[in-house]
Amino acid sequence: MEVYLDNSATTKVTEGVKNKLMQVLCEDYGNPSSMHILGVNAENHIKAAALIIANSLKVEPKEIIFTSGGTESNNLALIGTALANKRSGNHIITTKIEHPSVIQPLDFLEEHGFEISYAPVDEMGKIIKEKLYELIRENTILVSIMYVNNEIGSVQEIAELATNMKRIKEDLIFHVDATQAFGKYQIYPKREGIDLLTFSGHKIHGPKGIGVLYVSDKVKIQPVLFGGGHQRGMRSGTENVPAIAGLGQAVTELYTDFNEKIATFYELKQKFIIEVSKLEGVTVNGLPKEYMNSFAMEELKKTAPHIISVSFQGVRSEVFLHALEEKQIYVSAGSACNTNHPVPSATLTAIGMPKDLISSTLRFSMSESTTEEEIEYALEQIRELLPVLRRYTRRK
Ligand code: PMP
Repeated sequence: MEVYLDNSATTKVTEGVKNKLMQVLCEDYGNPSSMHILGVNAENHIKAAALIIANSLKVEPKEIIFTSGGTESNNLALIGTALANKRSGNHIITTKIEHPSVIQPLDFLEEHGFEISYAPVDEMGKIIKEKLYELIRENTILVSIMYVNNEIGSVQEIAELATNMKRIKEDLIFHVDATQAFGKYQIYPKREGIDLLTFSGHKIHGPKGIGVLYVSDKVKIQPVLFGGGHQRGMRSGTENVPAIAGLGQAVTELYTDFNEKIATFYELKQKFIIEVSKLEGVTVNGLPKEYMNSFAMEELKKTAPHIISVSFQGVRSEVFLHALEEKQIYVSAGSACNTNHPVPSATLTAIGMPKDLISSTLRFSMSESTTEEEIEYALEQIRELLPVLRRYTRRK
């Protein structure tokens, strides 16, 4: 049985997305900027996708910018806002658990005269709210906080944070990286006080290399790509029309049977956690310790439905990952995004995990097509492999 539990790294496209991609790629191949009918047909695919996405967020289509993915959306949001608003201040706030595509552009901005502050998180990966509010100053222009953490699945109370932060400083701009949240939560930026929102196609069964940045029409940002002035000058470059149409299709499919899908995610997550934590020397990260034995659904629902981070004391994550791979079970070591950087994960460090446990951590991430049988098979293999790998590690 093949069990793909690496859906936070990327997802498989649906049949509907595949068909849409092929149709637009092969048939409606015109350049959307061309004035003839082939161009108009291509442009209509962009307009249709922008409308689907805008409706799902309850925003206007003109507030949707298509990018090459979460990384570009985050870069555009941060660098674009910083440059366009530098007269109002040079201070930016973020957290210690952001994705590298937020941290790195902020490092770049720091080298260019901006000041960056990092709000701490508790052991569940939740922002310590008071500490965040204390960081806001007269010259703070931007705050960037992720909705769902990609390594442990912690979820921030975005609307509450927005209200309280804007009470302290009304005109601050709030960017949210919702790459792991979009499609798992119904997100309405205007209601939640979000000014800029990032998400990515390949995490929601859409194509790779396509993403969105929602930019509220009240917010001023400066483009970072210059050229032919596409997308109202905000992001030059011929649009990736097949991927945009595929993304529109993926978003349409996301919300069918939404509540049932989310309920199934949590049931499977609960089952996996209950079983895996029965094993010796195993800890599930990002859950309050006092609930470890009961795993009350109420507590579980405060975390993302699809991500489970588990540390297996005494077994290095790469070793376990490849042993599971032999059994056709595919998972990540901590976070797939960091595999090129052998430094300890910033998120796992920020929640206070010791180094040896960090390097023994695996991330299991489900999709809506994950089944109970697959979870059972994965658990069975974990139970069998764990003692064997531990013995092997000890002998080395
Ligand atoms: N932000 C988060 C939270 C992510 O998990 C990822 C993908 N790992 C990204 C941003 C980057 O998205 P993309 O792969 O589309 O560039």
